[in-house]
Amino acid sequence: MDTAANIERALLGQLRAGHSAETSPLIARVLRNNQILLHNFRAASIKDCRCTLEGCDNGFSVLLIPNQTLYPKFCAAHRSEYRREFHKERLASAAIA
Ligand SMILES: [Zn+2]
Repeated sequence: MDTAANIERALLGQLRAGHSAETSPLIARVLRNNQILLHNFRAASIKDCRCTLEGCDNGFSVLLIPNQTLYPKFCAAHRSEYRREFHKERLASAAIA
């Protein structure tokens, strides 16, 4: 079984049941590193996004895929936890200096 597809299915079930990040631990966990884009595209299409990391305003595009709702919410430079921590530390030390 495809784990990503299972998460998508569980997530959609929770969203349809009216849950949000406040009431669903699954949605809260998923939203930490992803964004949920509900769309009805039946063919793959490109959407322009902005990195949601504080202090970064990089644009990036995601490929919307039919029946997929989970997409990255950070730009390519900040996809990994390590890179985001590094960015935050630099931001913090710049604020002090
Ligand atoms: Zn970024």
